[in-house]
Amino acid sequence: MSIKTEEIYRTLLLNSADAVVVTDVAGLITTTNPSFARLIGAEIDEIVGHQLGTMVDWQGHEEPDNSKEVSGEEDSDPKPVTVLTRAGAEFVMPASRFPLTDSSAKDAPWGYLTIIYVIQANSLQQAQTEFVSTVSHELRTPLTSIKGFADTILRAGDRLDVSQQRRYVGIIKDQADRLTRLVEDILAVSRLESKKLQLTVRAIDPRDAIERVQQNLTDKAKNHKVIVSVPAGLTPVWADADRLEQILTNLIDNAIKYSPAGTTVTISARGLEKEKEKEKNSSDVEMVEFSISDEGVGIPEEHLPQVFSKFGRLDNPLVRQTEGTGLGLYITRSLCLALGGQISVASQPGNTTFTVKLPAATLEQQAARGRD
Ligand code: ADP
Repeated sequence: MSIKTEEIYRTLLLNSADAVVVTDVAGLITTTNPSFARLIGAEIDEIVGHQLGTMVDWQGHEEPDNSKEVSGEEDSDPKPVTVLTRAGAEFVMPASRFPLTDSSAKDAPWGYLTIIYVIQANSLQQAQTEFVSTVSHELRTPLTSIKGFADTILRAGDRLDVSQQRRYVGIIKDQADRLTRLVEDILAVSRLESKKLQLTVRAIDPRDAIERVQQNLTDKAKNHKVIVSVPAGLTPVWADADRLEQILTNLIDNAIKYSPAGTTVTISARGLEKEKEKEKNSSDVEMVEFSISDEGVGIPEEHLPQVFSKFGRLDNPLVRQTEGTGLGLYITRSLCLALGGQISVASQPGNTTFTVKLPAATLEQQAARGRD
């Protein structure tokens, strides 16, 4: 390595906000940087020569076995490790470990380079704290209302007429429903984020999926005209039936909620062919695209990205009138990504279209799993 390159690496190591540690095959620290020393709460000199294993616990799932050759790829994916500081505190942070070899990757490594992603851990921590504080606030609003009206009925029940009593109990019931919805959505978010989502993927007929959701929403859609447009013989979509239903339900429910009575909601599906096989005769459908359009209030362009974020409710009269947690589109987007798809939105006053693209089932998948 030239002196200049060495200087670049040295400066990078010294100034990196992420913690970097080099260990020998026995797990003893040979080199480290100020960021790791800060994390542990000690000076670099006090750390070098000590076992990394006493400061970083791979939580059993990835215990580095220094006697074994480790493939770089396996360990390069960040894994949660517990960092034990001098003061006795413990932090869970993402870390990767890379084997260091002289030339070819097949050689037994002479050591390992561990990176602990401090910046990522801090922003995750911050996002978590913000989520907890928003959730608490969202839960407190209906709880305050439930408690307030229950108190009033208890204290002044005999002075209230029957219609007042019914109204107050009605509010308590609505707010309890809102709490239930919030808790269900928060649980869905937590399942999605902890990657504990179980998917049962199979070939599903897009028309059947749309019709099932349409039937469930019949009551909500009674003041709207709903048009379904799906070409005959459309390729099945490769998805989890319940999750697909949840995606379509959220989008169709929003289309109804955020558009005035008497307007039309259009649900359509079509096949998208592979880009490079667009020649004639090719019927190789790669993705199935669902679109849900409404003639409602629309979403101002500057607020479009916000609608997919957690608790991203916009402030307009229709939103104020409707019930919602602001988690629906965040969940919908996460489900689309989990199924290997994408979601996008285009909007102007009087027309909002959400478009979901999901992988189409290949012929083999259709044959193996059967059509829904
Ligand atoms: P909510 O529970 O509030 O419906 P969502 O995450 O489903 O939460 O949607 C977030 C926000 O995006 C809504 O509060 C609303 O402001 C806006 N929105 C969603 N769908 C539409 C639509 N079809 N037309 C206009 N605004 C919409």
